[in-house]
Amino acid sequence: MTNQTNNDTTSQTVFNTEQDQAASGEPIVVNRAKSGAITEQKVIIAGGGHVGLSFALLLAAQGIASVIIERNKYPKLSPQEDASRTHYLDSRNTALSRRTVQIYQEIGLWDELQSHACRIDSVQVSEQGSFGFAQLNKEEENVESFGQVMENAWLGRKLLLAVQKSRLIELVDGATVTAVDQTVTSATITYDTYNAKQQTLTANLLVACDGRDSTVRNLLGIGTKDYDYDQTAIVGVVQTDKPHEHVALERFSPSGPLAVLPLTDADGDGNDLMQAGYRRSVVWICKNGEEKQYLQDDALFIATLQQAFGQRAGTFVKAGRRGAYPLTRVLAERQVEGRVVIMGNAAHTLHPVAGQGFNLCMRDAHVLSKMLGNQVLRGEDIGETAMLKAYEHARQKDQKRVIRFCDAVVHGFTHPNPAVKLARNMALIAFNKLPNVKPLVASYAMGLKS
Ligand SMILES: Cc1cc2nc3c(=O)[nH]c(=O)nc-3n(C[C@H](O)[C@H](O)[C@H](O)COP(=O)(O)OP(=O)(O)OC[C@H]3O[C@@H](n4cnc5c(N)ncnc54)[C@H](O)[C@@H]3O)c2cc1C
Repeated sequence: MTNQTNNDTTSQTVFNTEQDQAASGEPIVVNRAKSGAITEQKVIIAGGGHVGLSFALLLAAQGIASVIIERNKYPKLSPQEDASRTHYLDSRNTALSRRTVQIYQEIGLWDELQSHACRIDSVQVSEQGSFGFAQLNKEEENVESFGQVMENAWLGRKLLLAVQKSRLIELVDGATVTAVDQTVTSATITYDTYNAKQQTLTANLLVACDGRDSTVRNLLGIGTKDYDYDQTAIVGVVQTDKPHEHVALERFSPSGPLAVLPLTDADGDGNDLMQAGYRRSVVWICKNGEEKQYLQDDALFIATLQQAFGQRAGTFVKAGRRGAYPLTRVLAERQVEGRVVIMGNAAHTLHPVAGQGFNLCMRDAHVLSKMLGNQVLRGEDIGETAMLKAYEHARQKDQKRVIRFCDAVVHGFTHPNPAVKLARNMALIAFNKLPNVKPLVASYAMGLKS
């Protein structure tokens, strides 16, 4: 397979899987179909965000080739330039659950990611102006950690590097999917490039990872159930005068939930000035329209954050660059249509309150990659609708549970009624005291139970 990065998109996509595999010398796990041949079947992935890139790597581990069509132009990365981060994806930080870490371990990528990830050893939940408090500790739950926090800039960079190195993945960037067509045996997309040359590409399966406003989903006429939270998430990096000690703090305030998570030490951008061990990620949910003042004014941001958060993290002494994300829940009415699977935010965009969105997408991607790997082993079609429908069915329970949980947290903890407030404080206390509840909640939060 040709490995294009800064592509000449006028050239046709060519797969020579066996030759490239032999030439690459890379330790790619290859599943062989019953015939003994490496599969010639391939997948088109529309959208190369974190989910599209990760899914391509999961497919490569199953010996399945893919082409990613990504609207943005990405830089050609070199492992030697590792010290300089690029913010080509976004400025957020992601809490990776234990399950997500396990998935990256399974495909041999975790060693690469780990140096930029910060362990969560303890989780504390509290509410502004209330007595309720709950805590989870790794020792009590007998786990190595509850998960890891990683800056999206690093996660994106490492995923992109791995994709650019893989002989089974072709990345066509600066290319926008504009049309989708399918027959009984194949799926075809049309895409536009910056130089206005239109291309078509045909494969056995198309997986849409093109985000919340998914073009592929819309072109197929798949409707969505949307809910506008009338909230915006402000995300950024702060420094406190108290070390983070690997504690993740979740706090509920009348304006909305707040999360303060531990981060690795600074490297790369303006946030570098922040002191090692005291650097933290903030996700602060406010009402739509309020975000502008907090983005522009560091002093106001720090003062308001301090008031909402109290002293649990110590004193906030410095704020770095911040970004704002309006929050809506978008759920695709179905996730399979013929030879097309809708995945990632295109399938379910969730409120970030519990840090579950990407982790849920990773579990979807992992399950589908395994099912496709098994199809290849059986010598069967990887775009078979019945198998894809079985995937959709298999993922329903986990997806529904996470969607319900996120909404319950958002609505339950922002309800101003004093009786509801008392009830949730009692619930936090009960959670802290009841011996059987904590391990169950912990295993759900870590993505180990679905
Ligand atoms: C503030 C905030 C904090 C969060 N924190 C966490 C967390 O801690 N833990 C967690 O698990 N989740 C978290 N999430 C959720 C997580 O960010 C998302 O689940 C994840 O980013 C989804 O990735 P994606 O690749 O599906 O979509 P996207 O990131 O939207 O990527 C879609 C890609 O498709 C491309 N594209 C779009 N249209 C086209 C087209 N027509 N042709 C070609 N390419 C196209 C885009 O350029 C983009 O690169 C958070 C979300 C928010 C808003």
